Amino acid sequence: MAKSTDKCSFCGRLKRETKILVAGLEGHICENCIEQAQVILSEALVSEKQNNIPDFLLLKPVEIKKYLDQFVIGQDEAKKVLAVAVYNHYKRLSHAKEAKEGDVEIEKSNIVIVGETGTGKTLLARTVAKMLNVPFCIADATALTEAGYVGEDVESILSRLLQVADYNVVAAERGIIFIDEIDKIARKGDNPSITRDVSGEGVQQALLKMLEGAIVNVPPQGGRKHPEQKMIQINTQNILFITGGAFDGIEKKISNRLQTNKIGYKADRQHENIDKDHLLEYITPVDLKTFGLIPELVGRLPIVTYMHTLDHSTLRRILTEPKNSLIRQYTKLFELDNIKIIFDEDALNFIVEKAIEFKLGARGLRSILEGIMNDAMFELPSKNTKTFHVTAAFVEEKFRKTSVAKLKVA
Ligand code: ADP
Repeated sequence: MAKSTDKCSFCGRLKRETKILVAGLEGHICENCIEQAQVILSEALVSEKQNNIPDFLLLKPVEIKKYLDQFVIGQDEAKKVLAVAVYNHYKRLSHAKEAKEGDVEIEKSNIVIVGETGTGKTLLARTVAKMLNVPFCIADATALTEAGYVGEDVESILSRLLQVADYNVVAAERGIIFIDEIDKIARKGDNPSITRDVSGEGVQQALLKMLEGAIVNVPPQGGRKHPEQKMIQINTQNILFITGGAFDGIEKKISNRLQTNKIGYKADRQHENIDKDHLLEYITPVDLKTFGLIPELVGRLPIVTYMHTLDHSTLRRILTEPKNSLIRQYTKLFELDNIKIIFDEDALNFIVEKAIEFKLGARGLRSILEGIMNDAMFELPSKNTKTFHVTAAFVEEKFRKTSVAKLKVA
């Protein structure tokens, strides 16, 4: 405990002039100097890191898709589009190093993935980043506001990427940022509003520069810009932005567009066999504009793809097939207690049916399984069980007691 006569050995402030005075063996340090030291440390780490950039691993598109197949079930169209986009993006990056004056400049291609929540948009983006071994972070568009308003500035996304990259600016500058819920910052209604729209169009405007490629001053510790905080400059030119959103109701807009084309003299045969149950397959940037993304933003997100709604067979595969599937995880957990766990096919089908019934998607598989398995996970490690059989009857009985089952009563 510091005495009242003690002072900070760095700035000389007396104990009463500080909030906290931490005592060391030979001296003291106050909260201001700790903060200062932290800034110096992160700057030092940044310059040290610049010389230590891990190489990214670039596979060919077919191999990228094969890699994704190990973790993400189905969604073949999105995987192919993403594989090509990622391949081109990182090829462009390698090309940039050797580029000479007058060479063709390959433009960056940020991506929009349209699809219901829980269909694997984030998982796809995260898996691509893992494959490439580049820094990855997720941002929620709904948390963002225009600079100067309460909420997060768009720069905060870059702070997060920098933190994930362990303050290695060079590594962060070729990372991947996933911006979720991009549809939630759509303009309400088709007409640009005259009143200020802090959380919608304003954020879209704020994102433009960053998506296109700009040098942005980023507070390394995140949070609000602080006058005393030294900014770090990040060039977003080679950061790949993958954005995702459910775009609720966009099918209607796609349908309207297709109908108009069909009736109008531009009708073409291709539109005569429209699959009305899978309208997302026909999505184009025009539909994003009609939905309320400003044209400039749509222009900076040139690659548009979509995710299928997860049906029974896909959900069933998600339970067991991915490299780190839920069932594999449970098997491993029990194995660590020397218990062999066997799931009956009927039990797995029951779980899938409930996830569909309660409209919980793939995320629901986890919550349902957790509820069902909790008693077994609680009791079995203390028993002498060698094999544990999960039957449909067991699953049905446990499910009735879970919080998910109670959703229906409410
Ligand atoms: P979204 O970003 O579309 O809302 P997520 O990627 O966060 O959905 O998916 C939620 C969870 O559901 C993932 O962590 C994953 O476990 C599972 N999941 C969803 N879709 C798939 C899929 N196609 N293949 C494997 N797992 C999936």
